[in-house]
Amino acid sequence: MRKSTFLILSFLIVMSMVLAACAPAAVATPITITSAPQVVKETQVVTQVVPATPAPVPLTYARNETLYTSGTQWGPPSSWNPFNGGGYAMGTIGLVYETLYIYDPLADKFIPWLAAQDMKWVDPTTLEIKLRDGITWTDGTPLTADDVLFTYKLADPNGDFKAGLNFAGLYNFLSSIDKVDNLTVDFKFKANPAYQEVGFYLWQTPIVQAASWSKLDVKDITGGANENGIGSGPYLFESHDQDRQVLVRNDNWWGIKAFGKTPGPKRIVDIVNGSNNVALGLVLQGGLDLSNNFLPGVATLVKGGYGVQTYYPEAPYMLSANVAALIINEQIKPLDDVNFRKAMAYAINTDDIVQTAYTGIVKAADPTGLLPIWDKYVDQDMVAKYGWSYDPAKAKQILADAGYKDVNNDKFVENKDGSPIALEVTCPSGWTDWMASIQIISKNAQAVGINMTPAYPDYGPWRDAQLKGTFQLSIQNESQMSSTPWSYYKWVFQNPIANIATAQYGNYGRYDNPKAFDLVNQLNQVKVGDDAAIKAITSQLQEITLTEYPTIPLWYNGLWSQVSNAVWTNWPSSADSANHYLPASWRGYWNMTGIEMLLDLKPAAAQ
Ligand code: MG
Repeated sequence: MRKSTFLILSFLIVMSMVLAACAPAAVATPITITSAPQVVKETQVVTQVVPATPAPVPLTYARNETLYTSGTQWGPPSSWNPFNGGGYAMGTIGLVYETLYIYDPLADKFIPWLAAQDMKWVDPTTLEIKLRDGITWTDGTPLTADDVLFTYKLADPNGDFKAGLNFAGLYNFLSSIDKVDNLTVDFKFKANPAYQEVGFYLWQTPIVQAASWSKLDVKDITGGANENGIGSGPYLFESHDQDRQVLVRNDNWWGIKAFGKTPGPKRIVDIVNGSNNVALGLVLQGGLDLSNNFLPGVATLVKGGYGVQTYYPEAPYMLSANVAALIINEQIKPLDDVNFRKAMAYAINTDDIVQTAYTGIVKAADPTGLLPIWDKYVDQDMVAKYGWSYDPAKAKQILADAGYKDVNNDKFVENKDGSPIALEVTCPSGWTDWMASIQIISKNAQAVGINMTPAYPDYGPWRDAQLKGTFQLSIQNESQMSSTPWSYYKWVFQNPIANIATAQYGNYGRYDNPKAFDLVNQLNQVKVGDDAAIKAITSQLQEITLTEYPTIPLWYNGLWSQVSNAVWTNWPSSADSANHYLPASWRGYWNMTGIEMLLDLKPAAAQ
């Protein structure tokens, strides 16, 4: 009750600022909000009760030396373990622990990071990594080949730890890792290495310190909190609380000398996410410099002169981070019928989702599902031949031609055996943009005679149904932009079908096509940079996507990013004069050039 009251009031505060377009204010005077209703004497007439609401960000640190971020942390920070995939505290990989390379998705380029030079295959099965000289851990000891060797051997199924870490897949085709000298490591692979997958791990695997981690047991390596860990990156963890964590700059960081750049912010204060509307309020108050939350109404704000900047100044405002697709349980009737899935594809009005649920801040997806960063691989002839678009008349025709008829005159088609169809499309309760989207999808389906209704379970049961394959229809977007479309196709086509799926495994719809997965494996063996070979194989995968409908790609979820120029400037944007790094603090994004954004931030002119 109290929560909903403050949500409504926060929303009203925000909306009143939105409506008051005459008062652009990059750093608005903070709204005075107390944490409890005002105490009034009994005789006083209460005219205004100030709602309970989180206090504004306290400016404990010099504001012009501090970067306030939000958008990654959905609960109090509790893990600083870089091997805790989706659960580590903001910045654990990228700011504290570093990778051999980082990857620039907009330029499709690997950038040597701890590594001293571009990826070098000395022969078709040997990858040689040379480290930069002079890198030290935050305890002052040197980072060497021993640390790289130790890190990668953690997942060796025949090694000392046998840790089930996310790069364990490397051992499917790795023969050995050898130390050549103090700064050089050779990865030796079996014939036909999975070049795409190797590249994928090199920019994502955090290198940890052998001296300290070798003392841990496998349980602590995979699941320990690792508070006060020793990293090599530009920041160190300083403190944390229920609603935030604070990182402080590592002034001995190797990159200061190597790049000739010192990260601007002395401290980064990451605020735990509240509701979207609270985040919006913080942005408007100048309490956040970088918000990676989905903020409703941001299109209005960008245009309204509130000092809020997005990557693009016009729609879709945001870069595309991942594809949101309708995932379909293909093990149940009638969803196992390709014609039924095809009819659904033609029934859905994606433009309505883009405009109504997202007010234009996302892009409709290419029917191949390939992200804009992978445009160069899209087979346009294939799309012209098989691509679908919103066409309800055609959807009805496909259903009729496939034998789905309304035999009981209730305006909905029945199964071919006459049994009723009642489908449910789900998303987690509270995910307001997805809730609006599945309402549109259901309405569209009903309009062509498919009985579909939206449902909003809590996150736990929603997720459980995907892992166990007990859902019917849902939305998923967890396969992020990466260095290779292999990661996306692996997620779509994974085979054999898992009893219990995982985020790494994907294929929640249990689409069973071993031939498609053979193509995914072939794609994995293409050398990084061989775009023609990638195109030839992905063209076949695109044909399967466009004719079999394993999922129905709908829109690109944005790399939600709202920045303020009040304290820090020189943010990434699409402008020619700007840098084109990814303005994101999300897990996996600091090492997709987010860190370079930090190096280029400049303090705003004296305030
Ligand atoms: Mg009927």
